[in-house]
Amino acid sequence: MQMFRGLTKALATLQTRPSPVSQLPELTRWHAESVLEALSRMSALRSTQLRSYASMPLSTEKERLVILGTGWAAARLTKDINCNYHDITVISPRNHMVFTPLLTSACVGTLDLRSVAVPVMSLQKHLREPQNNYFLGSAQKIDPNKKNVHCKDEDGTEFDVAYDKLVIATGSQGSTFGIPGVEKYSHPLRDIHDANAIRNNLIANWSKANTPTRSSPERERLLSVIVVGGGPTGVEFAGELCDFINKDLRRLDPERAAEMKVTLIEAQQVLGTFDAPLREYAANKLNKQGVHLVQGMVKELTADEAHLSNGDVLPYGLAVWSTGVGPTSFTTGLPFAKTARGRIAVDGEMRVLQHIDPEKAQGTEVQKPSDVKMDVEEHDTGHGKEKYQQVDSCWALGDCSANMELPLPALAQVAEQQGKYLAKAFNKLAKDPSAKIEPFNYKHMGSMASIGGNDALIQLGEQGKSHISMKGLKSYIAWRSAYLTRLGNAQNRFYVIVNWLTTRVFGRDMSRW
Ligand SMILES: Cc1cc2nc3c(=O)[nH]c(=O)nc-3n(C[C@H](O)[C@H](O)[C@H](O)COP(=O)(O)OP(=O)(O)OC[C@H]3O[C@@H](n4cnc5c(N)ncnc54)[C@H](O)[C@@H]3O)c2cc1C
Repeated sequence: MQMFRGLTKALATLQTRPSPVSQLPELTRWHAESVLEALSRMSALRSTQLRSYASMPLSTEKERLVILGTGWAAARLTKDINCNYHDITVISPRNHMVFTPLLTSACVGTLDLRSVAVPVMSLQKHLREPQNNYFLGSAQKIDPNKKNVHCKDEDGTEFDVAYDKLVIATGSQGSTFGIPGVEKYSHPLRDIHDANAIRNNLIANWSKANTPTRSSPERERLLSVIVVGGGPTGVEFAGELCDFINKDLRRLDPERAAEMKVTLIEAQQVLGTFDAPLREYAANKLNKQGVHLVQGMVKELTADEAHLSNGDVLPYGLAVWSTGVGPTSFTTGLPFAKTARGRIAVDGEMRVLQHIDPEKAQGTEVQKPSDVKMDVEEHDTGHGKEKYQQVDSCWALGDCSANMELPLPALAQVAEQQGKYLAKAFNKLAKDPSAKIEPFNYKHMGSMASIGGNDALIQLGEQGKSHISMKGLKSYIAWRSAYLTRLGNAQNRFYVIVNWLTTRVFGRDMSRW
């Protein structure tokens, strides 16, 4: 490879110089011209190969590693993989990784959207080399026998990519539990587009409520926001929103700001993964900031009302849905074994499993995302382990997969640790194919959630076991510092610091795009 690049460079140099060949004796000149012509042909052939890569992978001496996704797991793997031993191809409909813990801040303009998006090309400098690729597209199907991934780009153009090793890290999607109207009328909060749509809708409603001919009930509805789901994402969004109302909207129009109503609806406990004292503290703090906490279940959303199972009806102008995650249709459609919650079943080394007798799997597994039941036990003690075998050269990481013997929650810290683990394993195996790889061992670093008004909760260690809990301003500072240091690159860190300072000094921008 290096020799080829050297020759191509030499060719380019020779071609740009006046005429070194013409100065040679005739026979030598003929030889030199033939060599140049051959090199030109090789160079042209190489560009053709790149263009027709769809059907013909480049053959170098290195293994072709194909990574599906650019989320937490895939980004860490892409960053840590040693490209001296692997040619990599990353395929994802998103050309950046989203720093999800700060996404709620982008919904109200505390942070710019670009601050929480880490470009894929900045993750791994070797991606700029011709033997490595990023393809904007989605994997549609995997053929594990032919070691081939069938993909589609945004225009519907289809292409195939062959692999020596495949890593699936395609994440999850928000669960709607088949509740009527949720998909149509509410906003999920998972991606940059979602944050942008939420912000635009919020600002539009704020302005529309002020139209002189607007009726009072309609004004009240437009200024009402419901957040469904009291996990960390729902709570952080509600907290950020109240902060925005109390600090910025109040400055613009105190009367209208006082009419804004934020309701957080949760079926069980708000911040259920935190200890009771922290939960209580958060509930009081949210209340003080103006969040109405409602315990209940939404049974239907119409265009402007949320109907709860106890008969209550809440009019709303903006509904944000954040009630946990489930598998995507890509995941459930794959020809591999699944957990009871529809995630790809993997073993301790993150290798994808399949049923030894695929016929037996028919009808017993989740076939579509809508079949998923989140209240079923995903943990399988290992009896029946003999039913499964490893799929050749195929691994799965992050939200889309789980080890049935030890299923882990859908968290960035799980996904990132798995990406790091697999990169280390691949790098080790590339140097020594007989190297022993230990199973993945997850280390829970703790949980954090900001609750608005310069306050956050931190619980280090696992719930129920001995751990450290923190709340108040010091937690808020720790929360910010922790995420700042975790952010993808120096450019993102710089953007975030500038955004935080700008917000503090000038307030949040109200322009709508
Ligand atoms: C708002 C929000 C806040 C969060 N806060 C926290 C937090 O504070 N702490 C924490 O630990 N966790 C948090 N999480 C959870 C965390 O973000 C997820 O667990 C994590 O993103 C999972 O990583 P992943 O790599 O498995 O999937 P993702 O990060 O979701 O990435 C999936 C990738 O796959 C791509 N993809 C999808 N389908 C295909 C396909 N067919 N072909 C190719 N590519 C595909 C997607 O475009 C994406 O790039 C938060 C989540 C959200 C939404």
